[in-house]
Amino acid sequence: MSEPNYFKIPYKQLPSLGQLYPKDSSIRFRILQIRDLKYLGALDKENSNEIVNDIIKRCLKVEGMNVEDIYRMDRLSILFYLRRNTFMLSNGYQTEFVCPYCETRVSKQFQVHELAKKTIQQSLLRKIYIEGKLFKGVYKKIFDPEYKTDDPELDLILNWTNADEVYEHVNQKELENKILGLPADQYAKLRHLATDTRCGILSYTELQCDKCFNKMRVGVDLSDDKLFNKVKLTTMIRNQIQVSKFCGINLTDDMPYNEVELTIAIVNDLSKKEAEAVSKSKGVAKQ
Ligand SMILES: [Zn+2]
Repeated sequence: MSEPNYFKIPYKQLPSLGQLYPKDSSIRFRILQIRDLKYLGALDKENSNEIVNDIIKRCLKVEGMNVEDIYRMDRLSILFYLRRNTFMLSNGYQTEFVCPYCETRVSKQFQVHELAKKTIQQSLLRKIYIEGKLFKGVYKKIFDPEYKTDDPELDLILNWTNADEVYEHVNQKELENKILGLPADQYAKLRHLATDTRCGILSYTELQCDKCFNKMRVGVDLSDDKLFNKVKLTTMIRNQIQVSKFCGINLTDDMPYNEVELTIAIVNDLSKKEAEAVSKSKGVAKQ
């Protein structure tokens, strides 16, 4: 199999605007292949971060720096690039929410570009003192461990400030307790610092209720285990066999999935037309 095509991601499309990367650097990606999709099929809550990071390493070609040098603020945008170009026929997101105005359960399809985005230029890197300690806003790198607790505010603070460096000699539980134990006004200062610093794709979008037409901000779960369409392994193998049987094309594991998706759609269409033609000619024969 020949070397796949790698497409450039324009820096101006990324939340960092490329401002933190070397001038002559570039980030390119290739489209996910059947093999990658089979790997993603194993995704669950426990292993999702590791598997998605592996997919990033497999599918990116970075020049002028290392893949580890990419900032986390760009991670979701990069993943959306991969997703949108891999799933040509099914790249929307589905969300369900209860409208607070009319209490109707609404199910909506939205596109990734409708999600709120904050660029590095809208972000403020400030410093503040809390109880004599210097807290700073920080931009973490793409593979830095991401804090995920049950408290979204705590996650915000841990992921966008240097709180873990300020309290470096404690374990994570103690770190969480230190932050949650701050006096209310000091905690609020720290939360503001994190909010000002945070940039990237934000996990909400503006949607409209189908019934009362009110517009509202709806939160979207952008966890790693929700990011990609899961294609069941059995579905994938059935498709591979079906296509090979119908038209003799072998869908090999290194085939880009966008081509696979289109091939399957065409084969389904052709086989339907063929079946129709057969039943028509039978109908004619009967007359
Ligand atoms: Zn409504």
